Amino acid sequence: MRSIISDYLTEALGAVQPDASGELAGYIPELAAADPDRLSTAFVMIDGQVYGAGDIDAEFTIQSISKPFVYALALADRGFDSVLAKVGVEPSGEAFNEISLESDTGRPRNPMINAGAITVHSLLGTEGLNADERVERVVDGLSAFAGRRLRTDEAVYASEMEHAHRNLAIAHMLRGHRILVEDARAVVDGYTRQCSVLVSTRDLAMMAATLANRGVNPLSGEQVVPEPVVRQVLSVMFSCGMYDAAGDWGTQVGIPAKSGVAGGLIGALPGQIGIAAFSPRLDSHGNSVRGVSLFERFSSDMGLHVMEVPATARATLRTSQVVGSGPHALRALQLQGAIGFAGAERIVRETVDTSYAENGVALDLTRVHSIDDVARRMLLEVVRRLTLDGHEVYLADPDSVMPAPDPGDDGRVTVVNSLDEAVAAQEGLSRGGSRPKGEGIDDAVAETAAVPPPR
Ligand code: GLU
Repeated sequence: MRSIISDYLTEALGAVQPDASGELAGYIPELAAADPDRLSTAFVMIDGQVYGAGDIDAEFTIQSISKPFVYALALADRGFDSVLAKVGVEPSGEAFNEISLESDTGRPRNPMINAGAITVHSLLGTEGLNADERVERVVDGLSAFAGRRLRTDEAVYASEMEHAHRNLAIAHMLRGHRILVEDARAVVDGYTRQCSVLVSTRDLAMMAATLANRGVNPLSGEQVVPEPVVRQVLSVMFSCGMYDAAGDWGTQVGIPAKSGVAGGLIGALPGQIGIAAFSPRLDSHGNSVRGVSLFERFSSDMGLHVMEVPATARATLRTSQVVGSGPHALRALQLQGAIGFAGAERIVRETVDTSYAENGVALDLTRVHSIDDVARRMLLEVVRRLTLDGHEVYLADPDSVMPAPDPGDDGRVTVVNSLDEAVAAQEGLSRGGSRPKGEGIDDAVAETAAVPPPR
């Protein structure tokens, strides 16, 4: 059976194909000579599954789509403080090649405009790398995001360098403000090579999927950059990735994205998918005309806007019921789904509002598929307080979705594979004589113990 997703992508390409509006990037002669009719798109799911339409393996230069990835590499190499000291994170509302810097600090406003990206290029690797080593770091890093070895297009690089007056002017200005502390021309040279790295639509979707997958390349399994770096990069893509069209894009499409003047466009939807489109004709903002149309379609057809509100939190507590009977009856709270702060709050409220008559209380995680860190800490605190209230607490967790289930500080929990096991354990305990509720417990401690603050 053919996948409905491939069919959908083929149909979407057919719908945008007749639109021949827009212009090729004229300021780089090699790009001006590109075939304007090329058109392709690809989805990469975070488990590495690829869907595509058009020639998704044809190569073109990455151009500005390199910027978020090189920003990620610089953050990973030098740390947040060093990079933020030199490049801000405010949308500029200006064109990509605007010659402007923050008036007080001389910092470029963000890493997605050329001034910021040229600066970020200079921050790659350990301090003191020479120009060639930096380019090597770029190609290695972009290759790790793509999951295959990439290379530069020397013709496009040379063609852009011959006309790089504007970027050279920006770099000299940065040098004047001591944001760049080395030869301005060498940095622009390296940045231009960075822009000339050849990628395919498949590569771009894979790179975007690596961001969507918390920095782990779905094919190689390599953690290319740490998670906090990914969050920073996606945030900046969301607010600044589409140049002076970022506001329209954020509201209408709502996918963290980045475009390049060769006609590529990527979007990364956290936890779901990496998307790429390629079509060389550009609109007045420098974004691919048909690429933007494709993304508008994808977002509305498939509800991919990041601000789409998920309806999960309310459903976290599936049931609260008594299992077993007599003295070893258990109160069982059945949880379900992916549990984050709002889901865990539901359980906190349930246990605060209700005083359970049963000595045994079980949190049944059989239907839970993930628990994030803050939810884990909140649930363990619930466990600890239930123990302090005199309950015998069980965690039915056959798939170990709760990492390190240790409530600490006088809390106690027995991890079992099922509610039946919890009932059996409770039965054994009751036969051996259970601790009566509340006995031996310092209630003052129970009342004043603080909830661990979310990190
Ligand atoms: N190499 C291009 C430049 O710096 C990249 C611009 C872009 O793709 O938007 O002018």
